[in-house]
Order: sequence, then C-alpha cells, then structure tokens
Amino acid sequence: MATYDEGNIFAKILCGEIPCDKVYEDDYALAFNDINPQAPVHILVIPKGKYVSIADFGAQATSEEITGFYRAVAQIAEEHSLSEGGFRTIANTGLNGGQEVPHFHVHLLGGRALGPML
Ligand code: 5GP
Repeated sequence: MATYDEGNIFAKILCGEIPCDKVYEDDYALAFNDINPQAPVHILVIPKGKYVSIADFGAQATSEEITGFYRAVAQIAEEHSLSEGGFRTIANTGLNGGQEVPHFHVHLLGGRALGPML
C-alpha cells in the first residue's frame, strides 16, 4: 500500500490551507464541488482520516469511520436530490484507476443521465 502523502491537495483542503466550495462536513467526511465538474452535480467526498485510496480505507479505517463516511455519501446524495433519479459514485484507485489525488475520495456524479460507465 502506498504511503500517505501529507502534501497532497486534499490534505491541504482538509486543513484549510487551500479553499474549497464546501457542501457538507461532519466528523467523518468533508465534501466539496469538483473544480472541473463532469456533470451538473459533481461532488467529491473525502474522509477526514489519512487514507490513500478506497483499498487503504477499507483495510485500515475503523468501522466507525467507514460507517460515518458512507452515511455522509448517502446524505449528500439525498440533499442534492440525486437519490430518486439515480447517480454514480466513482473511486479511482492507483495508476490503472487514473487516481490523480492520493487521498481517498468518492466522486458523486448526477443531475443528468450519465450514459454507459466508460
Ligand atoms: P481523481 O482522478 O484523483 O479520481 O480525481 C481528482 C479530482 O479532483 C478531479 O476530478 C479534479 O478535478 C479534482 N481536483 C483536483 N484539484 C482540485 C482542487 O484543488 N479543488 C477541487 N475542488 N477539486 C480538485
């Protein structure tokens, strides 16, 4: 598993060093609009803990962190009226997954029919 890079851009957003367009925050998660949206709604949800990827999060996070994080994802989807029409979540992971920022994040995409997955 890759070592967590303390200088990654989402770590800087988490500590307030870099601003973000915040849409949600609780003890477990921070969510903000993607700087380069690919859909009418494109929110990034990140855990508060230092996890490189979904694999790292799933293997190392506590049950409380995992539950809290996914409850936040569900709540954000509900708050943005995505649940009824449907939406997509993506967690790009590592080189083959095209992950650019090495702090686990879920892309929450919706607001229109998104078409086939790739
Ligand atoms: P990845 O390819 O790692 O799954 O996605 C990283 C996402 O982070 C991209 O969709 C990119 O647009 C977004 N992003 C990169 N830098 C920033 C930033 O400084 N602020 C925000 N809000 N989004 C960012």
